[in-house]
Amino acid sequence: MNILVANLGSTSFKYRLFHFDGSLATEVAKGGYERVTDYGKAIEDCLALLSAGGFLKSVADLDAVGFKTVFGGSLTGCVEADESVEAALLATADLAPAHNPPYAAGIRQFREKLPSVRRVALFETAFYQWLPEYSHRYAVPESWYQAGVRRYGFHGASHKFAAERAAELLDRSEVAEITRSLYQSGPRVVAGAPLRIITCHLGGSSSVTAVCDGVAIGTSMGLSPQSGLPQNNRVGELDSAAIPFIQRKLGLTIQEIERQLTNESGLLALSGVGNDLRDIRAAALAGNRRAEVAIEAFVYAIRHWVGAFWFEMGGCDALVFTAGIGENSAFIRESVCAGLSRMGLIIDTRRNDVSPIETDLTCCDSATKVFIIPANEELVVARETRRLLLAKPAAA
Ligand code: ADP
Repeated sequence: MNILVANLGSTSFKYRLFHFDGSLATEVAKGGYERVTDYGKAIEDCLALLSAGGFLKSVADLDAVGFKTVFGGSLTGCVEADESVEAALLATADLAPAHNPPYAAGIRQFREKLPSVRRVALFETAFYQWLPEYSHRYAVPESWYQAGVRRYGFHGASHKFAAERAAELLDRSEVAEITRSLYQSGPRVVAGAPLRIITCHLGGSSSVTAVCDGVAIGTSMGLSPQSGLPQNNRVGELDSAAIPFIQRKLGLTIQEIERQLTNESGLLALSGVGNDLRDIRAAALAGNRRAEVAIEAFVYAIRHWVGAFWFEMGGCDALVFTAGIGENSAFIRESVCAGLSRMGLIIDTRRNDVSPIETDLTCCDSATKVFIIPANEELVVARETRRLLLAKPAAA
């Protein structure tokens, strides 16, 4: 089975082609285009390259295209990306303005160019379908909730992959299987001690998720991807009173406030240096106080959520770091794990300093394991797409 995973940005089109032999996936090709103005042309170029490279004999060899769609309001899970999905992406674009319009446009282009190839959407919110009501509700009027104001959660593909892999590394294959088949089978009861995993996706945008017995029960992300931790240039958590207050105080329009919160906030605003943690860290090391504060605030927010979920689950069997910062910044990992030895978390700082790949970073007497698990969201999309095709074969 051949599955193409399409990653659509506002001006970019990236792809990976996976070949499945049974359930075993191999990434056979990847590529992409920047400064895309016409997705249709980029799709044609991509297919021509895959044919010329011998990866696909023809379009008939392609079983499906999978999309890591971000937000569809009440539409979530892993679903056939038909025209109702395109419409839902556009209807909910105000909460994911950078992500939804390119996905709606790209899915439509695939429909028009390759009408016989199935399209599958895996929503980033899918992993959070089973959040308990108390953990996804905001204390807003019922009419707001009915209108869709709630915690949805994002980065679902990444957190799901990290949680599933951590369960495997902890020799809890029955829990890993629950996470793996969650969108087909739903949560299931686990015999024995509960498995409590906290996953930290730290990258351009960041979030923390609590996963108990293979199922997400809490997330730092809220209504939109600009909630929770300070993001690269998006605000993260903010008291809602700040918006009317600053509107009056600085005479800003709501559109301008929204623009500043989504483009000029987060680590960029705190540091005054930039939105890349490497630059902020370099400035902090050179004595820039604002850069130091930005890093301290980022670490504080991560520890805040990790602590909340640790307490909520009554412990933590594994803490996982993934994505650009989580995989590459030994300093952030060490700062997040500092001073926790009396809670049973002891990292081996030497191993932490040299480990960019999948590793257990803990000393052997640490009750809580700390793993680096490299993100592989495209693989998750490809696997879920395959599962949907197997569960719902095409009508003859
Ligand atoms: P995105 O969230 O945009 O998909 P990534 O998960 O790749 O991106 O994360 C990108 C971020 O990772 C960059 O903005 C940068 O801040 C951070 N990063 C990458 N390498 C390092 C490093 N060695 N040290 C600190 N931060 C890093």
